[in-house]
Amino acid sequence: MQNINTENSHNAFHWITLYKADNNLEANIVKGLILSAGIECQIQGEMLQGALGEIPFEQTQVSVQVYAIKERHAREILVNYQQVKQSAPDWVCPNCNEHNGSTFDFCWSCETLKND
Ligand SMILES: [Zn+2]
Repeated sequence: MQNINTENSHNAFHWITLYKADNNLEANIVKGLILSAGIECQIQGEMLQGALGEIPFEQTQVSVQVYAIKERHAREILVNYQQVKQSAPDWVCPNCNEHNGSTFDFCWSCETLKND
């Protein structure tokens, strides 16, 4: 846990859930987008995967969180992401049959290049 010194604006520095992803893969895509915009970001729920061994990787719901003060900026980025997601289909890796999000150019699992 971070110990943040908050004088009179502590509400701005608590984590809020920005996005509930269907799986770790999507959560990490969103996290990468948010981080690349210079916004601090964390994933909640990823650890459940280890605790709930029988639940398939794909079904672990995870939340992407940002500081409340950054929510508005982060949501603007998400709107773009969701538009891209809707316009391009997910793809299945021809090498390892892993399911990949449309925003991935390489298979997240084996790094095979997406074949259009
Ligand atoms: Zn693959």
